[in-house]
Amino acid sequence: MSEFREALDATISHLESLKRAGVTHLPVRAETLEALSRPVAPSAPLAAAPPAAEAQDMFAERIRYTGSTKAEKMASLRKQALACVKCKHLAASRTQVVFGVGNPESELMFVGEAPGADEDAKGEPFVGRAGQLLTKIIETMGYKRSDIYIGNILKCRPNMPEGESGNRQPTDPEMQTCLPWLHAQIDIIQPKVLVALGAVALRGLLPELSGGITKLRGRWLLYRNIPMMPTYHPAFVLRQYTMQNRRLIWEDMLAVLERLGRPITPKMQNYFKSE
Ligand code: SF4
Repeated sequence: MSEFREALDATISHLESLKRAGVTHLPVRAETLEALSRPVAPSAPLAAAPPAAEAQDMFAERIRYTGSTKAEKMASLRKQALACVKCKHLAASRTQVVFGVGNPESELMFVGEAPGADEDAKGEPFVGRAGQLLTKIIETMGYKRSDIYIGNILKCRPNMPEGESGNRQPTDPEMQTCLPWLHAQIDIIQPKVLVALGAVALRGLLPELSGGITKLRGRWLLYRNIPMMPTYHPAFVLRQYTMQNRRLIWEDMLAVLERLGRPITPKMQNYFKSE
């Protein structure tokens, strides 16, 4: 309790005891009355909330992991993340934290925006229809899904209004709050290439960029000093299942394979060129 509050309570208690004793009037000096009649300037909050960036730094500092191998470090990080309740509204509505899945030794990491209902139920990112398309893309690139690592910026499903089903996009503050978990994952894996899936994920990672995903996809960026390829979200490609969109996301993946020095067959080169 503040000193002011304690003094106020003591004064009220003293006045009430005088009143009980039959005192009806108190002598008050003129200058005291004049001071009491003046408006009170709003005082600074006793403990101002730290700015968002500072709060994120403080949160990031509390994220710790132990272990000597990447797998051990990731398991240690996962254990801590599964108990995270930093966002009260999401912790209350989620089924579970959707941490991330795959090989922590991977040279390639895909980053999406947030889990949906399917992912929330299963505890794994990209398991719905969009996830099936992502798995198909990964396999067409010559990997197994378990070879690479897949994670989201937001680890808990964005809550929906009471009685509403479906999924909503994460807000920018939600993504910024959760970002330290993803940073720790990237720092452990140290992939050679990151792929940002969709406009929302790209905005969550690089909010300072201007221009939508249509303009930015296919262009190499840097994130935490790692080359990053932004591309369409598989859910967008499913919604607008045109030859052009499938070709564009595939062209981005060809650029990723080239950057990683992976083999690209003539058949791979020609996917979606004619159908
Ligand atoms: S969204 Fe992220 S920061 Fe928020 S409660 Fe879930 S794991 Fe924690």
